[in-house]
Parts: sequence; structure tokens; C-alpha cells
Amino acid sequence: MKSGWITTGPRTKAFEQKLVAYCGVPRVLCVSSASAGLELILRWFGIGPGDEVIVPAYTYTATAEVVLHCGAKPVMVDVGDDFLITPDNIRKAITPNTKVIIPVDIAGFPCDYDDINRIVNEPSIRDQFHPTNDVQRQLGRILVMSDAAHSLGARYKNRRTGALTDITVFSFHAVKNLTTAEGGAICLNLPEHFDADALYRELCTFSLHGQSKDALAKTKPGNWRYDVTCAGYKCNMTDVAAAIGLIEIDRYDDLILQRRRKIFEAYTQAFKDDNRFQIPEFETLDKTSSFHVYALRLRQADEARRDAVIQRIFDQEVSVNVHFIPLPLLICYKKLGYDIRNYPVTYDNYSREISLPVYYDLTDEQVQTVIAAVNRAVDLEC
Ligand SMILES: *Cc1c(COP(=O)(O)O)cnc(C)c1O
Repeated sequence: MKSGWITTGPRTKAFEQKLVAYCGVPRVLCVSSASAGLELILRWFGIGPGDEVIVPAYTYTATAEVVLHCGAKPVMVDVGDDFLITPDNIRKAITPNTKVIIPVDIAGFPCDYDDINRIVNEPSIRDQFHPTNDVQRQLGRILVMSDAAHSLGARYKNRRTGALTDITVFSFHAVKNLTTAEGGAICLNLPEHFDADALYRELCTFSLHGQSKDALAKTKPGNWRYDVTCAGYKCNMTDVAAAIGLIEIDRYDDLILQRRRKIFEAYTQAFKDDNRFQIPEFETLDKTSSFHVYALRLRQADEARRDAVIQRIFDQEVSVNVHFIPLPLLICYKKLGYDIRNYPVTYDNYSREISLPVYYDLTDEQVQTVIAAVNRAVDLEC
């Protein structure tokens, strides 16, 4: 605040550089939210009526709503037991109208990106891709844009999210692992025949009214004249937000992720040998989570019993959550004709899920309070 510069400027650029180094990608553009970032890329790729975008049925509404904003069709597919969109279901959903796939790293666990990237590059799938503009022709295949709102810092085969797909979008919303109050970032990692610097500049302009100079550039002596090249959007990150991000990213690996891991491990230790519970995966040979959501499941429960268990937990003054109510159960998507019966694994995961609290300031003692409350609630209900 005291620096005298509060909107997009040196801190936003510095935060972008930190993210470039952290993720190991050529360029990062910070924006006002993940939702804005996802939509900006869909618009850049020219997504519109007649186009199909594959999304999981198990996600937050932001993943699909941006597709609707563009006038395109979200093609929802079922997920696997690990909550993640499955490569097989993606393959089955691809048509000549498919332009983009948006995998979501639910809970912070990366999707099977080698398989997903392999599918979009298969000759038969490339052959049926139907480009309708220059950008789509330049890529020559379906775009993979990962919704990594949960998974900053997660790893897949020793690479971090951001570097796993063409485009990756992070969220820095207040509930996410790293927050700037509100904010998001777009990692640009397209094939080498795309000029990352030129694309960064184009998207920068596109996120700021299509105006050729930002507010900071215009303050330079004699530099007042500007032009507007397209009907752009207004979704730039402010320096106030980036200033928070700069502090958070420096303590992200060593403090935030380490603490979150400890909390995950404590929950797993408490529930892994009790067959009433199904514990979530957060570390395998290939994948390490960012420990965003601890998605505990009850083994033997339907939705009503799960809800009753949650009420019993709340009765003990412990607050838990459900991630997420599947999109086909929400009015917006029901009205569009989506039917939860087409997504049995999504529904089964949801109906047994309880997200336990995970945050940096949660103490070991509070973790034990949560564990005791969950055990007591399940004793009473199951
Ligand atoms: C939070 C979230 C978003 C949206 O992030 P914003 O920064 O609030 O726009 C998108 N996708 C998923 C899966 C999320 O959880």
C-alpha cells in the first residue's frame, strides 16, 4: 500500500516470475481468478457455439460454467474411484466437435496426464479434430487445459503442475492452498512452435480491455497514447493481491505444504485400519498431492447416512464439508438436461464423502479433536 502502486505493476510481474520458476514453465500470466483465467483461454482458443469441451461431472461449477459462458457445450464424463477424470471416459466422449479437455486435479491429486496427453496426440484423434480458426489450426489437436485450482505444488512423475499440460490454471481464492484473497494464474506451456512471449503479451492485453498499454506503462513520460486492439476483458491481478502472493509463495513448500502433509498423515494414521473408512490417496509412485482436500469416505453409507454423520460431527462443534456436490445435481445443470444417473462413480464418491479440515494454523490438538468427533459420529450412526 505504501509503495504508491496498487494495481497491476511490479509486484504482479515479480509474482509471475516466481511462479515461472516454481512450476518450470516458459510464462505465467496472473489474473483476477481461476474462473477468469479458464474463460480467457477458452476465448483465446475461439471456443463458441457448436464446440464441445470435456469436463468431469465431479468438480466445482467454475470448470463448466466458463464453457457455458462461451456458448459451447460442457460434455461431462464420469470420474474414477480416485475422484479424477479417467482417460477411458475422456476417450469415449471425444467427437469431431471436441476442442478442449479440462481435467481437474481434485483435492490436489494430479490426473493421469501422460495418458490424457497421449490420447489428444493419437493420429486418429488428431485426424478428426476440426479446427475453425488460426489458433486451433496452429495447435492441430484438442487443447488440454488443466483446472489446477487445488493442485499448486503437486507433482506428477517429478514435474510440478503447470508443466504437465498445454495450459494450467491455478486459483488463489481464499480457500485455496496459496491465497491472494482472490486471484488466479495461467501457466503457458504450449508446444514449442507457439511463441510463449508473444502469447503472454497477447493475453496480457486481452485481460486488460484489449488496451495496448497498461496503467503503469502509461505513466512513463510522454507515453500517454494507447490503442485498443480487441474487445478485451478486465481480469488483471492487482499488485495488492500479488504482494500477498509473494509472501505466500516463499513459504509455500517448506511451511504450508509441509504442515498440510502432516495433517493428512495424521488423519490417515487415525482411519486407515478402521474398515468403516476409505482413506484418500495422496502419494503414489508417480504422484504427490498438494494436500488440498482430505476427502475421507465412509465405506458403507448412502447420502442420507453420510449427511447424518456430518450432522453428528457438527453437533460436536467440528466443521466439515463435502467436495463437491456433482454438477448434475445442481439446478443450473439439471435444467440443461444433465442427469446424475449417467455418472454413477461420481455419485457414489460424493454420497460417501466428508472433507475434513486442513489448514496451516490447525494445531495437532485440533486434529485429534476432529478425529475423535468423526469416530464418535460414525459410532452413533453406522
Ligand atoms: C475454486 C475452484 C475454481 C475457481 O477458482 P476461482 O479463483 O474462485 O475462480 C475452479 N475450479 C475448481 C475445481 C475450484 O475448486
